[in-house]
Amino acid sequence: NGHSQPSLVDVAIIGAGPAGCMAADVLSRFSARGLTVRVFDKRSAKLDNGQADGLNSRTLEIFESLGFIENIEKEGSRMSEINFWNPCHETGRLIRTAKIPDTIPGLSRFQQTILHQGRVEANLLEDALKHSNGTIAPERSMLPESLSIDESLVTDHDSHPITLQVRHLSEDESNPDAYKGDEKGVRSGLFRSSLLSAAEEEALYKKGEKAQRVETVKARYLIGCDGAHSWTRRQLGVKMLGDQTNFVWGVLDLVPRTNFPDIRMRCAIHSANAGSIMIIPQERDLVRLYIQLPIQVKPGAYLDKSKVTPDSILDTARKILHPYTLDYEHIDWFTGYHIGQRLTESFGAHNRVFLAGDACHTHSPKAGQGMNTSMQDTWNLCWKLGSVATGLAKPELLQTYSDERQVVAKTLIDFDTKFSKLFSGKPASATDVDEGVDLKEFKDVFATGNLFAAGMSINYADSIVVGKDGSRGAVTSKQHLASKLPVGERFYSAQVVNQASATADELTTRIPFTGAFRLLVFPGDISKPAAKERLQKLADYLDSPESVVSKYTPGDLPRWAVIDPVTIHCAERTEVELYDFPQPSIFHPHNYKRIYCDGPSHHRGDGKAYETYGISKEEGAIVVVRPDQYTGLVVGLEDTDMLDAYFAQFMQPAKDGGYPGAKVTKVLPPDWSKVAH
Ligand code: FAD
Repeated sequence: NGHSQPSLVDVAIIGAGPAGCMAADVLSRFSARGLTVRVFDKRSAKLDNGQADGLNSRTLEIFESLGFIENIEKEGSRMSEINFWNPCHETGRLIRTAKIPDTIPGLSRFQQTILHQGRVEANLLEDALKHSNGTIAPERSMLPESLSIDESLVTDHDSHPITLQVRHLSEDESNPDAYKGDEKGVRSGLFRSSLLSAAEEEALYKKGEKAQRVETVKARYLIGCDGAHSWTRRQLGVKMLGDQTNFVWGVLDLVPRTNFPDIRMRCAIHSANAGSIMIIPQERDLVRLYIQLPIQVKPGAYLDKSKVTPDSILDTARKILHPYTLDYEHIDWFTGYHIGQRLTESFGAHNRVFLAGDACHTHSPKAGQGMNTSMQDTWNLCWKLGSVATGLAKPELLQTYSDERQVVAKTLIDFDTKFSKLFSGKPASATDVDEGVDLKEFKDVFATGNLFAAGMSINYADSIVVGKDGSRGAVTSKQHLASKLPVGERFYSAQVVNQASATADELTTRIPFTGAFRLLVFPGDISKPAAKERLQKLADYLDSPESVVSKYTPGDLPRWAVIDPVTIHCAERTEVELYDFPQPSIFHPHNYKRIYCDGPSHHRGDGKAYETYGISKEEGAIVVVRPDQYTGLVVGLEDTDMLDAYFAQFMQPAKDGGYPGAKVTKVLPPDWSKVAH
């Protein structure tokens, strides 16, 4: 039956949605180190429209780190303000009751942006292709059929304990009629919605006559990014726990014709009796409407999908918006969903098979969290997996994936339960304040939830890779040395000035994702002898064969590929020279992006980095930033023993003995006393 010889791969990914595409892109940065990756998706084609569209600030920071934020900013539609519309207590008429900024001002350099999921996936995949030298691209029309794990091999991380059988589908089988849209070209998302049972979704892909070839793939690791009805999750026997409400919502993406004035704003509208709408202005003049439908389903039951059509959704929208009119030039996409909040019992098995994205957590889409959290799951997982699979880090590091992300998923589910209940409820009226939703509370939940919704409230607990308070790992940070950079939270940018070129740069643009840890060295004012001496001592350590850089960097990699020191001093820029800095660990000859100054720039003001980060100019600090841009450790310049202890918990000493100290010849300025006049 077309079975072929097994093929070997380091990491197999099932599903090329946002979680799978992010996994592919992050892992592509390890392909230069020999990591092999295959991505399977049962669909024949990429997503063209619909589905998720909200990118929060944290995701945009990640895209900056990956290097393609400019594409997203060019294509997407930025959101600036949320308007709340509610029934007037006296007349019942819809009135605008409040406005708040959509993203909390000052939180991030990037504000929530709308771009449909298909374009987000495409950007990730193009980037993965580029960084893997053309080797990582999704293999479509591939349906996995069986999964087995040889448990006797799971502790040997060089082995391939996972066996996957994958069937090659024909074009027809992987592009069911449900995908193709109606006679007017309106595409439906119902086939991917929670209105479908797993069995119904599976039935779309019934294998036919032509699907003959079955391939056996043996993998070291497997990531199940196969969405809410995750096949991988079901193979592991892992359950989804949680509840469904009886609320049903419809979604319409359309180019509207309306006299409603806030159609290009994000709006939360509660009508007196007809239900609620959320408006999301999208790219290309499209607008998304989330509309509460006058249908209820019993929890656990499935709705008759024929009741959810573009016309039925539009009809309800008109009633909610009345007396404003609503027509359209064109409808792009529609779907319906049944609100529920569900969380998986476990994020994988044996730290060899991992689940990520909707496979782990599902909830209502209105807070715009699903795509973001899904990508952030594999953003968290894959630098760890890439490091372990290429022998740089110890397998213990993998456990921190589920430890860190399970907490995030639980918080998401709790937030969404509260948020969607307030959104779906009928507003309390002036005469009956005990019944219904308090619209002030709704606005407050929205405003306080904003930090969470922006992806900024994550604070990873102490672990081997978060040296916070030593409760689970071996190291306790000296948090007071960088009091405004909490260990476990995402590292944020401050402007600094490049010592070599005098250009003002955001610090995060200097530490893009490469898989490396960053040692951000803040030596203070190095025009003062004490600070200069302290920096020299650190440099001597970093250049020694015993340092974390020398121990954990294999000799065949560039010296700073694994742990990369970047220095930000606070002396007067013009009072010090590049060649005043110790070589090669602090100033590396011919690499001019190693030394930065905290101070005024010619054109962009003063970033005040020391002040922003709460670092004293006298004491200084070293801030260890993880590859995913979370702060892992804060110590003093003399605390090299703490650096040793931190990295020893999860890094693997290089098999070739590591970097043999300072190999680089120093470049020195001319010795004027010996230059003939
Ligand atoms: P998916 O996007 O579901 O991707 C799974 C992939 O796996 C698919 O490509 C599928 O074809 C493939 N697959 C599935 N099963 C198999 C199998 N057995 N074999 C091979 N391949 C398989 N989130 C936001 O952040 N912001 C929003 O504004 C937002 N709006 C939404 C609006 C709607 C109407 C909906 C339905 C969802 C919305 N979401 C939103 C949620 C978001 O779409 C999901 O959370 C997100 O897509 C999850 O990503 P994922 O990669 O985990 O799974």
